[in-house]
Amino acid sequence: MSRTLSQLASIKVDALSGLTPSKAKSLNELGIESVLDLLTFYPRRYVDRSRQILLRDAKLGQDILVVGDIVKISDPRRTNSKKAVVDVLISDGSSRLFCTFFNQPWRKKQLENESQVAVFGKLTSFGGKLNMVNPVVDLIGNQTGKIIALYPSSEKSNLTNLMVSNLIAEALDRSKEFLDPLNAKYLLKNNLLTRTDALRNIHFPETIDMVKKARERLAFDELMRMQLPLLLKKRRIQNSNRGYRCEFESSDNILKSKGSLKDLKGTVGNFIRSLPFDLTESQIRVIKEILVDMSKPYPMHRLVQGDVGSGKTVVAVCCLIAATQNGYQSALMAPTEVLAEQHYLNLLNMANNLSTKSLKTTESEMFFADSDLKIALLTGKLTKKHRDLVLEKIKSGDIDLVIGTHSLIFEGVIFKNLAAIVIDEQHRFGVEQRSLLLSKSNHPHTLTMTATPIPRSAAMTVFGDLDQSILSELPKGRTDVKTFWVTDSDQAQVWKKVIDETEKGNRAYVVCPLIEESEKISVASVNQAVEELLDGPLKGIKVGVLHGQLPASEKLQIFDDFLKGVFKVLISTTVIEVGVDVKDATVMVIMDADRFGIAQLHQLRGRVGRSDKESYCYLLTKDRLLNDTAVSRLKALVDSNDGFKLSEIDFALRGFGTLMGTKQKGRSDLKLAKLPQDEKLLIRVKAFLEDILLNDPELKDSDFGVFLKNEVAVFYTDEDTDFLFKS
Ligand code: ADP
Ligand code: MG
Repeated sequence: MSRTLSQLASIKVDALSGLTPSKAKSLNELGIESVLDLLTFYPRRYVDRSRQILLRDAKLGQDILVVGDIVKISDPRRTNSKKAVVDVLISDGSSRLFCTFFNQPWRKKQLENESQVAVFGKLTSFGGKLNMVNPVVDLIGNQTGKIIALYPSSEKSNLTNLMVSNLIAEALDRSKEFLDPLNAKYLLKNNLLTRTDALRNIHFPETIDMVKKARERLAFDELMRMQLPLLLKKRRIQNSNRGYRCEFESSDNILKSKGSLKDLKGTVGNFIRSLPFDLTESQIRVIKEILVDMSKPYPMHRLVQGDVGSGKTVVAVCCLIAATQNGYQSALMAPTEVLAEQHYLNLLNMANNLSTKSLKTTESEMFFADSDLKIALLTGKLTKKHRDLVLEKIKSGDIDLVIGTHSLIFEGVIFKNLAAIVIDEQHRFGVEQRSLLLSKSNHPHTLTMTATPIPRSAAMTVFGDLDQSILSELPKGRTDVKTFWVTDSDQAQVWKKVIDETEKGNRAYVVCPLIEESEKISVASVNQAVEELLDGPLKGIKVGVLHGQLPASEKLQIFDDFLKGVFKVLISTTVIEVGVDVKDATVMVIMDADRFGIAQLHQLRGRVGRSDKESYCYLLTKDRLLNDTAVSRLKALVDSNDGFKLSEIDFALRGFGTLMGTKQKGRSDLKLAKLPQDEKLLIRVKAFLEDILLNDPELKDSDFGVFLKNEVAVFYTDEDTDFLFKS
């Protein structure tokens, strides 16, 4: 009988022979409770005894693996320079080897009760005797076999490597065969091991090459289990046939052909024709993707990735007015009031260009444009009276398009027929906030926009259920922002540049250190910076000060003054991090830049260089030694203006886990698969699953489908898999 993983998950390790309660407890402490946990407790390394060499045959200067018996261990002694030294004499039958351990006094205790060890290092000679200094040591007990798997347990607990290995051998023996979701034909074609062979060879490999193959197969399964729910969700949406189907008159040819969008009829076409610039190729491509999606009978779920300044807003607006043009409502949610207001003003302007009537904003209704397209702003700063009015008009359908902040998700906001939702800077919202907005309508089209690009493998993993569009170019004429890393003692040049640029009529930002612990301290640091700068290098310059604790209306006023040039320099906390667009801003100074992450620095830098004017970014740090990763981050920024490239570096520095974040609440199933290294494998897995889903979209018709669904449920929580079992 072949075992399934769900069966193995239900058998406790206590069922294995010779497992004392104290050993069982040690296993539990390592997170091993079931036989499945044990079988997926993978080796950390291997000792390849086929590479073992007899001391008699080895040459001096060679890196060699020696396996031998411990003959003698010295007590820790001190050298003249006070270093602790332990000498261990081992014999492999052909000759003897002195291993000298510097600064590892614990070796005595570690090796005292061991018989056999494997040591790896460079063979030298000292005083006429064979010697190895600080070799890598593996305690392999009396384990035999050509390749010995080493488990991460043995150093921390009372379980020796041999015990773990024996338990796994027993579990493998008693399980015999594992039921394989992949059929023989596919395995053969793709040169993959069976699950049974893979599980055996990851623990008891014949050759190191087999370890690689076993790893590949098991990683395939991990990625398959992770991708399946995402792809299934996507399929299910596409098959739902429920959604707001939009029509674009005579657009078929335009959307499917390569040309521009200038001949498009209706509001979207008018909007594009009214822009003071030509769309980039990328913008045209992505807008087409969106309009094609919206003309389908099921809802769009699309993620737009584009570097800072690539022109995501225009794309978002096309989506919003594509819905209103079809008689539906649409909404855009932005993470800050400043950004919402900016989007709103932009849209009013555009609406003004589009409208046949003139734009009229009265005192009492200053948030309405009396145009064909009725737009409202909904943020926390509205008075109750005003807010009630806006809410009423959203409900009655008098308002077509709403721009807002988190205020949009409150209960009182009820739409008449909300068909399209755009979420700007999606990473600033929680999963819950996003889904609350979605719940304002049945099956709305949704467009999610990222502030900074994320690497492809991460996007496939975290956003595997979304279709993806990439804005791969910046508008013509943009040049890289010249970026410099400057320490405090050299900062005079920075302020000189700020003054030079403001004298030319341009503007500068100064961003103060990010202080996560307390907004109060952030404000204090801003105030201190203001004092020092106004007393010193920026004396006489008109400066605005912005931080999160100011009332919203004041923030908007200050920002507006900066935009208009009343203030030449804006000193602020990171509230300006996302989205804001001031074309005349040409200098960005970031204080204590080592405290920021790569994505954030790139976002901040993206506030300048938003026209064809030459722009500058200064990363200021104190005159002290920084840690290595901070240095890597700063250097990456100086070297590159490419957000996609920077995100790869960021990813490599921070690891994959941070990105997965809360997505995967269950046990961590990605034990062997590593991203982005396994990106190619991930792509194979995806193609494989898509093929399956094509024939069996609900995974009900094939044994494979049911089987795999159950397997996914073993590794992921109910929340992740709920919809797997719903139809
Ligand atoms: P982001 O992708 O960072 O959100 P925005 O949408 O704010 O970028 O666009 C950045 C700036 O570039 C804005 O001032 C916008 O008006 C301008 N812009 C957008 N598309 C183009 C284009 N095709 N040609 C020239 N300028 C453009
Ligand atoms: Mg933006």
